[in-house]
Amino acid sequence: MKRLAILGSTGSIGQSTLSIVEQFPERYSVASLAAGRNVNEAFAQALRWRPRLVSLATEELAAQLSAKLKEAGISGVEVVYGTAGTVACSTLPQADFVVSAIVGVAGLEATHAAILAGKPIGLANKECMVAAGEILTAAARERNVPILPIDSEHNAVHQCLRVGAHAEVKTIWLTASGGPFRKLPLDQFASITPEQALKHPTWVMGRRITIDSATMLNKGLEIIEACRLFDVTAAQVRVTVHPQSTVHSLVEYVDGSILAQISVTDMRLPILYALAYPERPASTLTFDLATLSHLDFEQPDLERFPCLRLAYAAAEKGGAHCIALNAADEVAVEAFLERRIPFMGIPRTIEKVLTATPEAHPATIAEVLAVDGEARQRATAFTEQ
Ligand code: MG
Repeated sequence: MKRLAILGSTGSIGQSTLSIVEQFPERYSVASLAAGRNVNEAFAQALRWRPRLVSLATEELAAQLSAKLKEAGISGVEVVYGTAGTVACSTLPQADFVVSAIVGVAGLEATHAAILAGKPIGLANKECMVAAGEILTAAARERNVPILPIDSEHNAVHQCLRVGAHAEVKTIWLTASGGPFRKLPLDQFASITPEQALKHPTWVMGRRITIDSATMLNKGLEIIEACRLFDVTAAQVRVTVHPQSTVHSLVEYVDGSILAQISVTDMRLPILYALAYPERPASTLTFDLATLSHLDFEQPDLERFPCLRLAYAAAEKGGAHCIALNAADEVAVEAFLERRIPFMGIPRTIEKVLTATPEAHPATIAEVLAVDGEARQRATAFTEQ
């Protein structure tokens, strides 16, 4: 029985993880939940799963949850809050596996603490790898802690890498759906609204990641994530636009063989893979090959999607530039959703922040967070101009 700490339990990955626990009660149970701001959902989850520990974003929200639990006559569920609360969830001695699915750098400290505590990680939080990948992977290697990617592309790459040696890998091909604007003429990009950008053709996801898919900054973050997770250079990671999102990614080996992973477009599968690794439990998440008529692959258009170019530049510089890329994007996406900047203001803001960011290679999580804070300030200033 694996006892899970789920960081980001009320988000889409957290909820999918809980549905896997529901399907495999003999394999998984819930030790702790870090839930953020949704008190009602956290209450429903605490009621259903009876974890030892639940963390919410603030003291006030934690007090609300405690009161609700008391009213319902539930005891034995401790409620904590803030970063310290999330860290308590991820390092709980009764947890054997940590699902890291808090969006943004908010989950960074808890993920790092879990690695230091020797807990295997199922990583859905790509921002952690982008901002602090060098620190996290070094700590994991030192302690022999597995980091299993839940991000569908990296999960596919992880599967394809199991058949060859590291030195035999030539190129990691990340597939991208291309988002809703793959075919939109460039001159119409200026008038894209948040409503249009929030409509993703294949995946239903959180708001930031959906906008990041529309700008392809998400793929940019995934390039950096792949470099860190699989210890390859940015030049070894390439992007191919694959609108069907059926091939989740590919690995090209030096002999010319290219291996692809194909499965249903459902995040429960990569979650199950990460939770069960190295086993493969039988599941109902099947893909009917007979329904597949064709697979398309195209080169990404860097003019429409300047975020990809910016991400490659940041990946090559590493350190502070990767942190700034992620931080600036988060601020810019928020500004776009609040209609304070246009769609193409997102890459423009990121580019300005990257230009203003001095090269540096933070060695601690505190330094990472400091660089992150500076980049956010710069981005906020640029979005308010
Ligand atoms: Mg992905």
